[in-house]
Formats: sequence, structure tokens, C-alpha cells
Amino acid sequence: MPDKVPTPEEILQSPKVLLHDHLDGGLRPATLVELAAQCGYQGLPTADPDELARWFAVTAPRRDLVRFLEGFTHTVAVLQHPVALERVAFECVEDLAADGVVYAEVRFAPELHTAGGLELVEVVESVLAGFRAGMAAAAQAGRPIVVRALLTAMRTAARSLEIAELAVRYRDAGVAGFDVAGAEAGYPPTQHLDAFQLVQRENFHATLHAGEAFGLPSIWQALQWCNAERLGHGVRIVDDITVGADGEVTLGRLANYIRDTRVPLELCPTSNVHTGVVAELADHPIGLLRELRFRVTVNTDNRLMSGLTLSSELAACAAVFGWGWDTLSWLAINAMKSAFYPFDDRLVIIETMIKPGFAKLLGESGEPDGRS
Ligand SMILES: [Zn+2]
Repeated sequence: MPDKVPTPEEILQSPKVLLHDHLDGGLRPATLVELAAQCGYQGLPTADPDELARWFAVTAPRRDLVRFLEGFTHTVAVLQHPVALERVAFECVEDLAADGVVYAEVRFAPELHTAGGLELVEVVESVLAGFRAGMAAAAQAGRPIVVRALLTAMRTAARSLEIAELAVRYRDAGVAGFDVAGAEAGYPPTQHLDAFQLVQRENFHATLHAGEAFGLPSIWQALQWCNAERLGHGVRIVDDITVGADGEVTLGRLANYIRDTRVPLELCPTSNVHTGVVAELADHPIGLLRELRFRVTVNTDNRLMSGLTLSSELAACAAVFGWGWDTLSWLAINAMKSAFYPFDDRLVIIETMIKPGFAKLLGESGEPDGRS
């Protein structure tokens, strides 16, 4: 493979796979303004879409967690009606397709959208309808994309079993798996064992927000008690890795287990900078974890709050960590291999979209390196 440095424009054109993205963290500013007007929500800092985009953007460099979270107060406030949920889901698919994403799993917490009287099933059906319409529109526009939902339960609440049951119930209608999110400290995932056991008994899929701000015990519980197949973030696994003065790397038992069993890490580098997990992108362990050949994936987390796209995030990482085409294709293929999507269908996307997409960009018929 030629030693070409990928440009942001080429990265935009390359086929990409996204496994960790929050629906309520990815609204368009203009949509947020319109939905607030429609539902009478008065809490937005401004009704001007450009100013609102700037409000979110200036939040980021401040690493102000309170302000970061305030953003979700606004987005969740306007997502309490079926029409709003369907619209935002549709636009999410449209935005990801425009960014060159070919497969995405987008997550949301149904229980956050019931303040206006919606039932959980209505929330799920509205979002899935938006995804379906978005996929049909994207295919018609020549930008085919597959988007599946992950249903998230809030770890600070007590509805996880209900959400897990809902995820299983809609598994053939667009839901790919189950997730738990929210404050880690003081809320161990083992409080939701019944939900995870249900998912496992049903031969269904679970990922879990673990090891974002909180350390190794959270990751260990997610894997060994809750049977999570992937780790949402999981970045604190770096606490189980020692790099000696001579550069020699030693992995602890948990880090070894994760690497040996190819547990996918849904890493979200810029989001981690914005929430204060690391100071700068250059400090992010993703560079080291990639070098050590953990099954790393790059994700957006919250496109609105962090002012990014998957392409811009990959371009930023490529610039900071010196990633070339080999790494970019490796990331896309490994993310696809890690998807909660049937094996045959994953292969079809890899063989008909990802590999040809990279080959076309590289102007050669050779296949990118897809070793995991
Ligand atoms: Zn997340």
C-alpha cells in the first residue's frame, strides 16, 4: 500500500463505521431551535441556530462538564414527542450518510423521552421509523447506510430490566443491542445484573459504558459480571498497562484478557478531552492501545456537544497519532467486525462497501490490511 497521508477530504470520502453515538447528542442546532419553538421550550440560551452552534462549540475547549451536560437538558427537553424523535432520527441518518458512514449503531435512552407522556414503546417506534425513513432516503440519494439502534438504560435509575426487555422485543425491527450509561462512580453495573442476564439468556447483545472516568473495577464488572461484548469507552484499561522507562510494555491480567479475547473498545477521544478524562488529544491512550493492537474503534459520542463528525475525529487522530491508510482501513474493518449485526451481513458490508471504498481512494486494486 502506498505511503500516502490521508487528507481530511479523503477521510470524508472513505467508508466508515460508527459504534458509539448518542441520538440526543447529535441534533442539528437549527433543528433544536425549531423543535424548541414547536414544543414551547424556553430554556435554550439563544434562538439563533448559528449562535446556538457557537454556544455548544465554546463549551468544548472549557472542558466544563456542567455546561457539557446542560446541552443534554436542552436536547432531551425537545425530544418528548413522536414527530420530534422521528425527525431527529431521520436527520441523524442523513448526517451520518453525508459523512461517509456506511454502518452505524446509534443509542438512546427511551426512559429520558417519557416526560411528555410517551410510552417507552412509542419512543422506540418513533426513532426506528426515523431510522428506516432515513436509510431509504440515503439509499435513494446514492449514499447507502445501515443504522441500527442500541437501547440504553440509565445506571442511576431502576428501569434497566424493562429497557432490556424492550431491546429484545424490537431485535428484528432495528434494535441491535442493549447498553447502560450514566454516572459510573457509585453506580456499578452489577446493580443491573437481571437486565444483562436477560440479554444473555436471549442470545442478544450488550455493550456497556464502562471505564470512561472510572477505573478498572467498572471494566472488570462490565465484562465478567455483565457479559458485555464491547466496552463503551473502556479507555481506563490503560491503568492496567505499564510502560517502563526503557519503553517495555507490561499488561495486567485484565488488559491481557481484553486484548486476547478481542473485546472491542468504543473509544471516543475528543469526547474524553471535553469531559476532562484526558487533557489533550495527544495525551489520549488510543495511540498506545492501537500500537498494542487492542481492538480499537474510533467514535463520536456526541456530535453536537463536541462539534465533530466521525470524519473530523478520524482526521484529528490521524494528524496527532500519525495514522495512515492502513490504520484507517483497519479501524473501519474492525469496527464492522465488532458490530451487533449478523455475520453474513457484516461480511457483505466489508466486501462490497469498505474494501472497495478504500481501494478506490487509493487508486489500486489491492485490498487494505484487515487483520484484527
Ligand atoms: Zn457514550
